[in-house]
Amino acid sequence: MAPEIKYTKLFINNEWVDAKSGKTFDTYSPHDGSVIAKVAEGDKADVDLAVSAAKAAFHRNSEWRLLDASARGRLLNKFADLVLRDSKYLAELESYNNGMLVNMALFLSERNALSIRYLASLADKIQGDTIPLDGDNFTFTLKQPVGVCGLILPWNFPITMFISKVVTALSAGCTVVIKPAEQTPLTALALVALLKEAGVPAGVVNVVTGYGPGAGTALTHHPDVAKISFTGSVEVGKLIQQAAGKVNLKRVTLELGGKSPLIIMNDADLNVAVPTAAYGVFTHQGQVCVAASRLFVQSGIYDKFVEKAVEFAKNRKVGNPADTAVDQGPQVDGEMMDKVLGYIEKGKKEGAKLLTGGKRIGTSGFYVEPTVFADVKDDMTIAKEEIFGPVQSILKFDTLEEVIDRANNTSYGLAAGIFTTNLNNALQYAKHVEAGNVWVNGYMMAGPQSPFGGYKDSGYGREAGLNCVDPYLEVKSVAISLPKKF
Ligand code: NAP
Ligand code: MG
Repeated sequence: MAPEIKYTKLFINNEWVDAKSGKTFDTYSPHDGSVIAKVAEGDKADVDLAVSAAKAAFHRNSEWRLLDASARGRLLNKFADLVLRDSKYLAELESYNNGMLVNMALFLSERNALSIRYLASLADKIQGDTIPLDGDNFTFTLKQPVGVCGLILPWNFPITMFISKVVTALSAGCTVVIKPAEQTPLTALALVALLKEAGVPAGVVNVVTGYGPGAGTALTHHPDVAKISFTGSVEVGKLIQQAAGKVNLKRVTLELGGKSPLIIMNDADLNVAVPTAAYGVFTHQGQVCVAASRLFVQSGIYDKFVEKAVEFAKNRKVGNPADTAVDQGPQVDGEMMDKVLGYIEKGKKEGAKLLTGGKRIGTSGFYVEPTVFADVKDDMTIAKEEIFGPVQSILKFDTLEEVIDRANNTSYGLAAGIFTTNLNNALQYAKHVEAGNVWVNGYMMAGPQSPFGGYKDSGYGREAGLNCVDPYLEVKSVAISLPKKF
């Protein structure tokens, strides 16, 4: 049975409100393309209201600013309790609106609650330094929240992204306006209701659902927004960085996806490497920013590896994400499905060898077959651009030296992996590959404790890890002149 849709309005100053224009937009189920709900379409007028509520909540005498840092942490822990209490409902809603396997959404619920607790634990550990300065000055630093933050979310991991950005900003003491992706507004609204229930004061968290060019642009151009955190495409990341300098000078953190290389050396254990490489690119229908979308296999094991990879892909069961027995669900919408199918056509046309998959499944919903291309060359489109779909592209290499250069020959730099039993090879690769996350003999090992982000056009700034609150803080140096003698 479909989960109940409880919230479809904007959330501003702890109230559910219609868009000023009265407009709504349809949100869909990727399983069959049916309309799930009509959601308020926020625009500049609504963003203005939300920012003004967030600004008031950030006033030095506000309830939020006067709240003790440890109490802020406890409040966020309460939010974690509520996320756990509602984990089944949240997982079903995520699956319904996004197409994520319900199994995966449930698994992530537990992890998301742990993330909240980790991020909440940082709230009362934000502290400055005392610094020797010219002998007679007593100098210390204060770390203070930057102010109102605009958080622009992608559609691929709506709950996880909401939690990662919102809880970090709140832990730092900021107030926020969130713009969820147009495709997946529902879980953001369900989560903000839980933040209200946890006791977050009015105006601290606001959600304006709507479109990038409307609500998103209004947020990035607003003079009272101090910082933008964005996850999505490089194209929009560039627009956001430009917008951030137009009206004021917003701090910006960007996480912009990748074309991540995974290297399989001759000495790899294929029983682990084959399924892990498949998991690296097929998980969540390939809609993962760190997807292992360039799979470099060394020549000594290339043929054997390709054969096993094809067999593995053929055995994946595709179907309704609400069914706990399936391995792969639908792409998020028709546009993304067409984009993925377009890349597959390009791959065929440019001479890559299609070994399995390549087609849409059925005529309702947005399902694409698990697809494997071999003999992919570095200059083919499918080896260069982010596909964001279940498409494994296998390339052949001879030496580690050669493959490090090829791995780095991209404008992206989010993640990278290597399978080898040779420690030197693993460490040389980890040292020289241009990526923010490197995995050895595994893939996608990540959690709130470990910094996450990209080199080059994959963005900048790091989310998660002990220092993740820093981009939400200003550092103030206070120097006190002391008399020489006392
Ligand atoms: P996108 O356009 O970059 O969308 C990400 C978010 O930015 C959405 O909330 C979007 O609003 C908003 N946005 C769009 N234009 C904006 C603007 N001018 N100012 C402010 N906000 C704006 O991503 P997409 O179109 O959904 O997906 C396109 C490609 O991005 C994918 O094929 C994939 O390659 C990549 N992607 C990467 C990640 C990642 O994890 N790094 C996640 C998602 C997508 P709307 O709701 O109107 O779109
Ligand atoms: Mg979009």
